[in-house]
Amino acid sequence: MAHHDFEPRLAIPGRGAVALPELAGTLSVRERDLADAERDFGGHVHRRPLAVAFPATAVDVAALVRFGRAHGIPVVARGAGHSVDGQALTGAGIVIDMSTLGGVRPFGPDRISVDAGARWRAVVDATLRAGTVPPVLPDYLDLSVGGLLSTGGFGGASHRYGSQADNVHDLDVVTPDGELVTCSPTGNAALFDAVRGTQGRHGIITRATVALTRAPAKVRRHRLTYHDLGAYLGDQRRLVDELRFDHVDGQAQYVDGHWRFVLEAVSTQSPPIGDLRHDSAEIVEAAYRDFLDRIQPIEARLRSTGSWYHPHPRANVLLPGKHAEAVLAAAFSELTPDMLGVGGSVLLYLFPTARVAAPQVPAARDPYTVLFGVQRTAPPGDSVTLHRMREANAALHATARRLGGASYAYPLDATDAQAA
Ligand SMILES: Cc1cc2nc3c(=O)[nH]c(=O)nc-3n(C[C@H](O)[C@H](O)[C@H](O)COP(=O)(O)OP(=O)(O)OC[C@H]3O[C@@H](n4cnc5c(N)ncnc54)[C@H](O)[C@@H]3O)c2cc1C
Repeated sequence: MAHHDFEPRLAIPGRGAVALPELAGTLSVRERDLADAERDFGGHVHRRPLAVAFPATAVDVAALVRFGRAHGIPVVARGAGHSVDGQALTGAGIVIDMSTLGGVRPFGPDRISVDAGARWRAVVDATLRAGTVPPVLPDYLDLSVGGLLSTGGFGGASHRYGSQADNVHDLDVVTPDGELVTCSPTGNAALFDAVRGTQGRHGIITRATVALTRAPAKVRRHRLTYHDLGAYLGDQRRLVDELRFDHVDGQAQYVDGHWRFVLEAVSTQSPPIGDLRHDSAEIVEAAYRDFLDRIQPIEARLRSTGSWYHPHPRANVLLPGKHAEAVLAAAFSELTPDMLGVGGSVLLYLFPTARVAAPQVPAARDPYTVLFGVQRTAPPGDSVTLHRMREANAALHATARRLGGASYAYPLDATDAQAA
């Protein structure tokens, strides 16, 4: 029995009303669903799909991909919709809203099988009850499993374990031909390699077996503040090389007319920091669950001020270690608060490139990859500032690529065009 919200047929421009495949889930042409699927977190690219599908099974996803292929229309997966340059949008096709495939199954001590539409929050909520956690997690838990694995997935533990895509045992994937295939390093390995890091281009991930490791109950957060960029980068690299902490990341902050740098190093222990070159230090103990969800209070504040809903022309680039300091010094000399926007932030941390083994996950051609994320927010309705921010982002992406770095969480067709 087919379940289509209004019509068992879909009107395709130039082809008329076409019969839809049988689905256990639903396919909607409701105004509200089309409007939701028309934009992403970036909020500055809009593409209205013909329909939005809510699959009940991976078989539905395969049927929709075959339908799109048969009728020459794009079919795009949408995870949590947190990309910022329209990657999960399509103007003339079907968006598959993966959130209806959000199952988290009973699991073992070292792995868990989850549907790709589940958010990392649901994964962590389940695994922490058994005292385990994925080795690498993003800063923000409300991203989808499939969206992040198909992008890469970096976090403060990447200096130890690489990307999240490096920490999965196998994946179920609907190929661009509409076939449902299980792949792993030992079975259909070419597909396993192709799909991780390519944002849906080589298939839609419908399920993943994610690796798990022991989770601590509490951690100590060491927040070290620097005024000197070189000292900051040098110390970050030292901590990463020595594996002195479990988690190392950091941010640049604009305070009193100057950039300062805050290195966050987290451990269950109290490793020494006396040899580091920070100007000040703050050490706080936190419940591990609260540490993992550290963006949540920031999100709540940005929602209450409204800036969470404003356009987010963000740029995340991966710089080669040997050029990072020069590129960053130039970038910070130009990056004024108005070009970051209210509620904007800057991420800055590094990891050894060799830790990233998944071949299509972007990284720099250098022993060290420096993640530089300029998380801008544009004032609503201000197209001039939005345009200036987007131009600055394009220049940053071009610089990174020219120097042997890479764009991260950026449309693949844009990076192809830049590389051409
Ligand atoms: C607040 C915030 C915090 C972030 N923090 C981090 C972080 O700590 N680390 C990090 O690495 N990144 C981070 N990102 C960036 C993030 O990696 C990407 O934006 C990611 O793709 C978002 O996941 P999503 O589920 O929202 O994907 P979507 O935006 O829904 O989709 C992203 C791309 O993946 C494709 N896709 C979605 N689901 C699937 C699937 N199941 N199979 C195949 N392709 C699929 C889409 O078609 C699209 O091309 C952050 C972004 C935001 C907005």
